Parts: sequence; structure tokens; C-alpha cells
Amino acid sequence: MSISNQLHSLRKQLAPHVSLVAVSKTKPLADIEAAYQAGQRLFGENKIQEMAQKWEQLPKDIEWHMIGHIQTNKIKYMAPFVSLVHGVDRIKVLTELQKQAEKNNRVISCLLQVHIATEETKFGFSASEIKAFIREKSFENFRNLQIKGLMGMASFTKDKRQISSEFKGLKKLYDWCCSQGTNFEVLSMGMSGDYPEAIAQGSNMIRVGSLIFGSRN
Ligand SMILES: *Cc1c(COP(=O)(O)O)cnc(C)c1O
Repeated sequence: MSISNQLHSLRKQLAPHVSLVAVSKTKPLADIEAAYQAGQRLFGENKIQEMAQKWEQLPKDIEWHMIGHIQTNKIKYMAPFVSLVHGVDRIKVLTELQKQAEKNNRVISCLLQVHIATEETKFGFSASEIKAFIREKSFENFRNLQIKGLMGMASFTKDKRQISSEFKGLKKLYDWCCSQGTNFEVLSMGMSGDYPEAIAQGSNMIRVGSLIFGSRN
């Protein structure tokens, strides 16, 4: 199936409150242009410099989401244009994002990544760290950042019950944060292999790559 057909059939399954980030990492400009022609405007990349190159060459009404692990020395390359940073997993990232956002005279929106999987290799804060930050109002000093919600990745497993239970835990944490007077509005969870489970557990933003663009090398 073509990129535009894949996008249309995926969108048909989504309720209006669920945003679709098309994950175009490693894919050529022509693929992104095909998705753009099919009406897609949110794109996700996991390498800052690759995203910056694509931003330079593609229409300026694309909203670029940084979904990968962040190297703080590269933040300066995306600070002028990035629309949402999903993978904030340590305070050092917030400190550098704040510095670069201020330099660019912008407010940068971001999500806190929460470690919900069993694998050690996935990044993110623990639920108790997130709760402590919120109780201590740790984010008030980051004047050029808007923390908009949470992001998580489930374990890489075929066990759908485990995946659902990890997503359910993240939704519970998200609801707790909302109840504490944060202005959270984004819960980013779900990828090609597990987006139905994520949406069933309350995701309102899914990040889908291979299902739209085909598998990556
Ligand atoms: C690559 C990636 C995705 C998309 O993965 P697919 O399985 O291709 O849909 C989503 N989220 C993150 C953080 C990724 O790195």
C-alpha cells in the first residue's frame, strides 16, 4: 500500500482527540512529501541533526516532534523550530532546553519521558521522580518551557496484557499529574505495534513509523 493509503486507513481508526505523529526517521524527503500531500503535518524524528536538515528542506507548516533520546550538545540545532520534545528524561535536558529556548526567544513545549518498560535500555524518569517534581513545583524556574504531558514506551514483547498494563500505569500517573493542577494535555504512547492498546488505555498521541512508511533497515 502507498504511504497515502496507509495514512488514510490509519486515520480512519482514530478518534478526533488522538493526534498522529508520523515517524519519518531514516526516511527520505520524498516519503515525507507523500505524507504531507496526504494532509499529514506532524512528523517525528529521533536524531536532532537529521530533523534539522529535513526542516530546512520541507514546507514550514510541518510541526517537527523530537521523539528520540536527546544529546544536550545538539539541542541548539532544533531550538529555533522544534514543536514538541517528547523524550525529556533528565534534568540536564530541561536546563539546556531552557537556555536555548531563551536564546531563541521562544517557549518550547515538551513531554517528560517515563520509564514504564521492563527493559533497562529504555530511558525515562520513574513515576516517583515525576511525582516528586510535581509536588516540589520543580518546573517553575524553566520559564521558556511548557511541560505539556508524559511520554512512554512499552516493553518490546508480544504479551499484549503486559503492554496494556504498562500503558495503564502511565495513564494513571498522567491523571494524577492532571489532578495536581498541571496543565497537562498530551499523553504520548503507542507505536506501530501497540497503538490500539495505547489508545484503549487513554493515549491521545501516537507515534507511528513503519506502519505508514514501511520497515526501516
Ligand atoms: C521509532 C520510534 C517510533 C515508531 O516506531 P514504529 O514501530 O516504526 O511505529 C515511536 N516512538 C519512538 C520513541 C521511536 O523511536
